[in-house]
Amino acid sequence: MSLTIDRDRLLSEIDALASFSDAEAPAVTRIVFTPTDLRARAWMKARCEDAGLTVRQDAVGNTFARWNGSNPAAPVVGTGSHIDAIPNAGKFDGVVGVLGGLEAVRALRESGFHPTHSIELLIFTSEEPTRFGIGCLGSRLLSASLSPEAARKLTDNDGATLDEVRRRAGFGSELEQVKLHSGYYKAFVELHIEQGPLLERQQVPLGIVTNIAAPASLRVLIEGSGGHAGGVLMPDRSDALCAAAEMILAIEEAARTSGAVDTVATVGICDVFPGAVNSIPSRVRLSVDIRDTDLQRRDRVVQTIETACHSIAMERGLSAKFELLNADAPANCAPAIVEALSQSCRKHNLEFLSMVSRAYHDSLFVARVAPVGMLFIPCRNGYSHRPDEYAAPEDIVRGTLVLAETLAALAQ
Ligand SMILES: [Zn+2]
Repeated sequence: MSLTIDRDRLLSEIDALASFSDAEAPAVTRIVFTPTDLRARAWMKARCEDAGLTVRQDAVGNTFARWNGSNPAAPVVGTGSHIDAIPNAGKFDGVVGVLGGLEAVRALRESGFHPTHSIELLIFTSEEPTRFGIGCLGSRLLSASLSPEAARKLTDNDGATLDEVRRRAGFGSELEQVKLHSGYYKAFVELHIEQGPLLERQQVPLGIVTNIAAPASLRVLIEGSGGHAGGVLMPDRSDALCAAAEMILAIEEAARTSGAVDTVATVGICDVFPGAVNSIPSRVRLSVDIRDTDLQRRDRVVQTIETACHSIAMERGLSAKFELLNADAPANCAPAIVEALSQSCRKHNLEFLSMVSRAYHDSLFVARVAPVGMLFIPCRNGYSHRPDEYAAPEDIVRGTLVLAETLAALAQ
């Protein structure tokens, strides 16, 4: 089997998909189920059908494009990623895994390869949490990590429910049908840009993921008391923002002293009320993201943070309410898939790095119902989720080639 990746076709498709955007180029904004997203989906579906694949879409819009193997009843070998993009993002996040996946399938078909197991490209719905506040919506439903009842309660910023929005977009069947049975996949492999700087820094062209770190997100609501910035003297204050400042440092400290470099904690949002220069902050809401590859350590850090926040609040005489929004478990990649990816790299004399995925991906959830693997390519400066996100053509082509080789090995 001699595999040829059609570089020009792949790169021009990445550009074409980027043109479906609600932001001006080079920025890409493509929020799930907006008219722009629906046009991008229709374009993707046509690309898949042109490639000879059979497309089906489930109730939440997850899109499966299938190449039947000689044993269609055998478990499927899957690949794919997402095409939704947060506001003002770049054109490679998710897209490299979707269009690279499609190109890998086309390269295999054109090489004359005949799979035993069916190979399926999967485009996940709403990997990004932009519209419904929860990331990996499609893969959570596929893997029963989110129940249909809980999904039905989700609303967007305009108050429209997921059911209303998806039905308007043409996905009207029951959410109960989205879940995949646990024997559905033989393997699932996701190609993705690294979204971090390690490959570029170490000048290694490929990363094979061994574990996917999992996030916990929580909110801390601090309630103090406000007042006039001139009128209330210092001893009489309970300034919610000063308490928040101490809490933010305690959160940083909890991650730094967890005993492992894999623990990270970030306070990404600090909402201050009333937010006036001459008014003592009476209320603050912190949004915190905590990640680790080890579930117990991650949960210990969450616990430490909660205890620290309460004691800071107590010392300062104000209240802190702690709300855990989600606490997902990390995933390990399947050794057989890690090995298949490594073999494919060796076959093409390509160096690779074994690494942890610190961003989470749909594969984190697919891992609950299928053996998964992930392949990373470098992105410039590690930048992602911004308009200057960039992956070099040769890296995209290399990743696609190794993906194709791996899919062949797994599906033969
Ligand atoms: Zn992504």
